[in-house]
Amino acid sequence: MNKNNLMILSLIVCFGVFIGAVTNARAIVTPGSIKNISQLVQARLQENVTIQTIVNVSNYTTITQKPTIIWRIDDWSMSKNDQQSLSNAAILAYKYNIAFDLAVITQQFNNSRSFDTLNIYYQNRDRFRIIAHGYTHENPIDKTSGEFFDRSNNVKVPFDVQEQHIKSMKDIMLSNNLMDKIDWMYLPGSSADNNTFFLLQKYGYNLTTVYPLPIDKYAPPEEMYNGVWYDNSWVSIPQVIRPLTKDELNQALKDFNNMKSRNPKYIFIVIHIQNFREQQWIEPLIKELKQ
Ligand SMILES: [Zn+2]
Repeated sequence: MNKNNLMILSLIVCFGVFIGAVTNARAIVTPGSIKNISQLVQARLQENVTIQTIVNVSNYTTITQKPTIIWRIDDWSMSKNDQQSLSNAAILAYKYNIAFDLAVITQQFNNSRSFDTLNIYYQNRDRFRIIAHGYTHENPIDKTSGEFFDRSNNVKVPFDVQEQHIKSMKDIMLSNNLMDKIDWMYLPGSSADNNTFFLLQKYGYNLTTVYPLPIDKYAPPEEMYNGVWYDNSWVSIPQVIRPLTKDELNQALKDFNNMKSRNPKYIFIVIHIQNFREQQWIEPLIKELKQ
């Protein structure tokens, strides 16, 4: 090989290495390489195209089974404290071949999200879907849990305050690329008034879960209201920091079967993050309902 050929060869090698580096640089964000929250967010951005597919193929539902069961866990901030519950949820999701909606309180998420917790979500994305669950979760007037309406004391929230909360909630979802199901939101305290529905439609939400207005347990399981579908077809699991008792378990199964007999499109199983503090606290419920 003469000197010129050698020079050309080394140029080719250098070029190859350079191209390799560029290609590698483009593929920087793989789960193993992620070291901080902004890389996680970046990874979400790159993967947005495939998110819907991932969620659809995961065993959210048994396709032949009607209604569709939506397993929902409420009140996440994705802080360090949520880490154990989230890994328990991931273990149970794989064990029972289901997926969970994680209903996130967006202001808490914004203030206290932890890299370690978010990373569990990221690594198990075929089992988790994040859904907006209000901005503060509390009523700005009397601090009850109905952020948009306090049904127990009948306290309304002014239109512009509601709008500010819904807008802030959506902004946090968008800026963190938490767009697993951007057109659904789960109302804190399942409470809303006419204005809430108007605003949900304005901000692009198509479906929410709520008690019917006015409260009527015989209202249809799903209904269109001010342009938004609301689902009243849910089973509420006691929010306790201990295992469910046999009575609580039986009641949940009874509620589930009652709901099923009304033939809704979806049945939401509403569980809270506290129930997941120990895997065995909630496992019997999942086992029963999966049968
Ligand atoms: Zn909640």
